[in-house]
Amino acid sequence: MNDRVEILCGTCPRHCRLADGSTGFCRARKAEGGRVIAANYGKISSIALDPIEKKPIAFFHPGSNILSVGSYGCNLRCPFCQNDGISQQGGDAVPCQTATPVELADLAMRLKDEHGNSGLAYTYNEPLVGWEFVRDCAKEIHARGMLNVLVSNGCASEEVIAELAPLIDAANIDLKGPSQDYYDWVGGDFKAVCKAIAMLHEAGCHVEVTTLIVPGRNDNDEDMDAVATFIASVSPDIPLHVTRFFPRWRMMDASPTPIAILHRLADVARRHLSRVLLGNC
Ligand code: SF4
Repeated sequence: MNDRVEILCGTCPRHCRLADGSTGFCRARKAEGGRVIAANYGKISSIALDPIEKKPIAFFHPGSNILSVGSYGCNLRCPFCQNDGISQQGGDAVPCQTATPVELADLAMRLKDEHGNSGLAYTYNEPLVGWEFVRDCAKEIHARGMLNVLVSNGCASEEVIAELAPLIDAANIDLKGPSQDYYDWVGGDFKAVCKAIAMLHEAGCHVEVTTLIVPGRNDNDEDMDAVATFIASVSPDIPLHVTRFFPRWRMMDASPTPIAILHRLADVARRHLSRVLLGNC
């Protein structure tokens, strides 16, 4: 008899096969009792009331604040991760408080009256590795007439994106590079991210995209042209944030992106897109 039955996780293209009690590559999902659960459900590592522009979302309720929450875990391994303390760790290694979707939605509502809060943003770590919590919070937020904002790497299954899309009002999705070659470096799936951007846009969600420019990796005109061409194929009006790299995590020895390169690449993107902004400058 095989007592090592493995369960497939369908949340992202990694398709981890998990023996009961084991945790997936993202450190957030776990096989338990014959199914895969979000072990980070309701575990809040970070919470803050941020300007919506900080997400970054530039063209959706500008000037408003948004209650922003994160948990732990991520299904990518970008060497330049800016939030590795919560994204590249899991379980007891990340100090968390607990909150239910109702508690967070009620807090969001109180902050609406006191601080102009517009809703709830799912951010900081990768929210989609715990998509059930996003779904449950988003329903509570909509029931209170508030807005849901997703900040994600977009590397999830179509089923997850399809389930969440009607609940998400605005999203910023990373399109980290122009090809699967680039996504091999960060441990992701290029086509899945492109599909997520298209599906969210088609569902009526306000979508913005971020591309971090990493020196020596995607700082050439051809890569930016390919990124912008894809985004324009979904809609030329999708805003693109061309953002500056700073040394982080496994890339502490690299130099920040020269600002002149960001300006040059933004001009390349503007051949295809109507709204291109610089970030982290
Ligand atoms: S969400 Fe996590 S456990 Fe599921 S397939 Fe992706 S990395 Fe593996």
